Amino acid sequence: AEGTNHADTELDVEVTLDIHVPHSARMYDYFLGGTTNFPPDREAAGRALAVFPYARTAARANRGFMRRATRYLAEHGYTQFLDIGTGIPTSPNLHEVAQEVNPRARVVYADNDPIVLLHAEALLRGSSQGRTAYAQADVSDPEAVLKAAAETLDLTQPVALSMNALLHFVPDRAHQLCETFKAVLPRGSALVISHLTGDFAPQETAHLTQVYTSAGTPTRALDRATFTRFFDGWDLLDPGVTSTPRWRPSAADEPLTDPEASCYGAVAQRP
Ligand code: SAH
Repeated sequence: AEGTNHADTELDVEVTLDIHVPHSARMYDYFLGGTTNFPPDREAAGRALAVFPYARTAARANRGFMRRATRYLAEHGYTQFLDIGTGIPTSPNLHEVAQEVNPRARVVYADNDPIVLLHAEALLRGSSQGRTAYAQADVSDPEAVLKAAAETLDLTQPVALSMNALLHFVPDRAHQLCETFKAVLPRGSALVISHLTGDFAPQETAHLTQVYTSAGTPTRALDRATFTRFFDGWDLLDPGVTSTPRWRPSAADEPLTDPEASCYGAVAQRP
């Protein structure tokens, strides 16, 4: 069909790519200064920036949180990573951070966006000792995600599951899906989540969720208590729930305020 590209990747999946409709992954790529975005994405991103001037800093703060959480877990012995809602490749990616600490680390990426699949080859270039795999899967289908993950990871051993800047796009089912993954992962597993919040810039964030929702991506911001519920029954690691830039900040990261981040982040461990 017009405006649709079909690509048959090495992963043997047929991809349907619609570049006439804005997509959250490509809007996010635009906020990060990437080049994998098309006019409708940039138009929707422009509408988002008009009401939520923090979109670029929030995206950068979120990447910083992802890197620090991944590094922390790799340094504390985690060797298996499952990252859902991976996004278009932005260096450094999670596998690069984990495998820099431990070249034997195994990483499975999952995303439902075909454009991320098209970039999977770049994602798949991991260390020779470790393994990096990509699955085209939807977080709304945990069984499919876990089945794909089990091809690369040993799910009877601790896994670091990350869902960064993802769950605000599955507003009605976010907690239920999270509990489904938590129930499957063994003792000692880790859970890393970042999520949009309206606690720091309520009006701007409310407008942002309206822009995303009217662009076809239902989106919800959560308050602190509702975010914290994702980790029920697991032990939050220090410093607990914070805005993304305040989670174990390092001198290398640009200093950002809570409104500029407008996302909560936390890491917890299954007792
Ligand atoms: N985790 C990355 C990217 C966040 S952007 C980071 O924190 O930097 C959100 C990503 O979630 C996009 O790549 C989008 O394609 C993906 N996504 C959105 N809904 C999804 C769903 N239902 N299942 C899987 N991935 C989804």
